[in-house]
Amino acid sequence: MTSIHLNNLVKTFGAFTALKTMDLEIRDGEFMALLGPSGCGKSTTMNMIAGMEEPSEGKILFDGRDMNGVPMGRRGVGFVFQNYAIFTHMSVYDNLAYGLKVTGVASSEIDRRVKAIADFLQLTPMLKQPSAKLSVNILQRLAIGRSAIVEPAIFLLDEPLSNVDAAFRAVMRTELKHLQRQFRQTMVYVTHDQLEAMTMADRIAVMDHGVLQQVGTPLDVYNNPNNLFVASFIGSPGMNLIKGKLADSDRGLIVDLGGLGRSAPLDAALAAAARKAGVQDVIYGFRPERATLSAAGEGLALPVTFVERIGARTVVHLGDGEQRVKAVFDNDVSVENGTTAHIAVEPGSVRLFDARSGASIK
Ligand code: ATP
Repeated sequence: MTSIHLNNLVKTFGAFTALKTMDLEIRDGEFMALLGPSGCGKSTTMNMIAGMEEPSEGKILFDGRDMNGVPMGRRGVGFVFQNYAIFTHMSVYDNLAYGLKVTGVASSEIDRRVKAIADFLQLTPMLKQPSAKLSVNILQRLAIGRSAIVEPAIFLLDEPLSNVDAAFRAVMRTELKHLQRQFRQTMVYVTHDQLEAMTMADRIAVMDHGVLQQVGTPLDVYNNPNNLFVASFIGSPGMNLIKGKLADSDRGLIVDLGGLGRSAPLDAALAAAARKAGVQDVIYGFRPERATLSAAGEGLALPVTFVERIGARTVVHLGDGEQRVKAVFDNDVSVENGTTAHIAVEPGSVRLFDARSGASIK
């Protein structure tokens, strides 16, 4: 196990800055996901950890040791890419054995470890098969096995599941988490898929435009996003974000939700934070599943524009102006398209953001 410290890391390509001053501590044995949209700098960060790219500024430390200038082969990292690097002329067994053979491990030990990892990844029936004939799903499983077998202190995975089908991806999410629990490696996992990050990671580093936006546990980034980007990027559907203005009323500080023609109360702690922040234009945020149906005359009265029944849950689309809202209910909710729904949001689940900077008010 090894900790990784990214210390003021910067990467430029000519005049373009792909990564802006990234500071991140990845703990021993931690599963850290680097999550963000395409082009945000995830792979660039990963390539620098692996030693395939040198930082333009800053340092990468493994257990406090400076890795600048240390070649990839000497860093003790295993790397699995989106496009599996498998020797197609070799059998599954030989692919798995390769990393151990080149480091001179005894053949009886190689045999024991190949069989163990094949068993773990359900590759045992294919051990003798030539790799060239394997399906994409199995090839990716083999690529993971081939890197995992050498038990690197740090395991880097860059979008390893993006080419496999949805059902297999779900299986692999569980297996990768088991793999990491078993070997207790420090794992860094690059993905643009929030479901992968949420289900597997101990902590998530959310990135956008080469800037680290937030680091936290999956629940933390979900419940308490630092800014509007994280609030809208995490969660499916994302957080409802409604333009509003703070105003005083006989109920204390409220948010005037101009676009929706309604105002909403704030709990005492949030009202105090909002007063302290001294802002007026805010974004009123709440998770779709935090909305409840209320009686007519209470809450926000919104036209129902679409009822999306997706099995376990029902997503109700509300509002017809510039400000649209989604609410998630159980599948037996009785809401009809074309009617008006009354939506209440418990003040404790409201999140407020500064409309100018996008930063969370808390
Ligand atoms: P994706 O999932 O699409 O790979 P990413 O978040 O991993 O996205 P990076 O691959 O790290 O993003 O790229 C970040 C930015 O840096 C992109 O705009 C990309 O075009 C640019 N970039 C990456 N490598 C190079 C390079 N060798 N030369 C010039 N620009 C580069």
